[in-house]
Amino acid sequence: MSARIIDGNALAAQMRTDFTTRAAAMAQQGITPCLAVILVGSDPASQVYVRNKIAACEKSGIKSLKFEYPQDANPADVLGKIAELNADQSVHGILVQLPLPRQFDADAVLEAIHASKDVDGFHAENVGALAQGRPGFIPCTPNGCMEMLKSAGVQVKGAEAVVIGRSNIVGKPMALLLLQAGATVTVCHSQTRDLAEHLRRADIVVAAVGKPRMVTGDMLKPGAVVVDVGINRLDDGKLCGDVDFASASEVASLITPVPGGVGPMTITMLLANTLQSAERQLKARQA
Ligand code: NAD
Repeated sequence: MSARIIDGNALAAQMRTDFTTRAAAMAQQGITPCLAVILVGSDPASQVYVRNKIAACEKSGIKSLKFEYPQDANPADVLGKIAELNADQSVHGILVQLPLPRQFDADAVLEAIHASKDVDGFHAENVGALAQGRPGFIPCTPNGCMEMLKSAGVQVKGAEAVVIGRSNIVGKPMALLLLQAGATVTVCHSQTRDLAEHLRRADIVVAAVGKPRMVTGDMLKPGAVVVDVGINRLDDGKLCGDVDFASASEVASLITPVPGGVGPMTITMLLANTLQSAERQLKARQA
């Protein structure tokens, strides 16, 4: 079997066309959707991520503001900026790029962002809303994975799903979203005794570990749908996922590539959350 590819670039481009229209419609009513990004330190990967997020905003007609702090920044200064942005009506989304330097309590920083502007979906209020199935901001990467499954027409209801990884950013919210969509969900992690045994039953596999090509074709159920969240840099500088694409695509029915899979969808869902926040403000104003 040769798997069909779920193309994250194509889906992202399609969704972003709609965003441009929505942003323009809001601008006509006097609201320019705006995302504020805070970057602390000089981590090269973080700089690339922030640059990509800002470029994506521009292309979709979303205004972006960037606030940069040095590696030895005082956390109080960053918390002060967050308080200022929370109070600023013209800002609809606030994002603090992770990881933060050692002197920061990352949880405290994320909790300082007002839940109504927490477009990353990391605030406890939004995490709680997701766990209870109430509306709130959904973390961008798992939300992007769900959009990919939807776009490919994957039947999630009743499916056996295995999520590999239990991080707050990807694994846990991914499991909750699949559960909400009606899948029977197993979460595997670093202490799981026999990963392959779980994978053999899985109709849907989401890999979010950070270990290059750890999921191989022989571990998969024939016809499985495979979503690869992992981004790993190899010694030759190339990127690869947590799934061994060559062997997995011989067994799977659908698979996401790396690069060009989940990555572009993560930024797309960030834009979606920012627009949603701005539209909420517009609605409140009209009410
Ligand atoms: P993390 O390090 O916080 O979590 C990794 C998880 O993998 C942990 O829960 C751990 O228990 C589990 N794990 C470790 N070894 C394992 C093993 N041998 N078997 C099973 N599980 C194991 O990482 P994260 O932030 O969740 O990110 C995971 C990967 O996804 C990374 O490669 C990251 O770069 C990537 N990522 C991609 C995007 C994107 O937009 N595509 C977004 C976020 C993260």
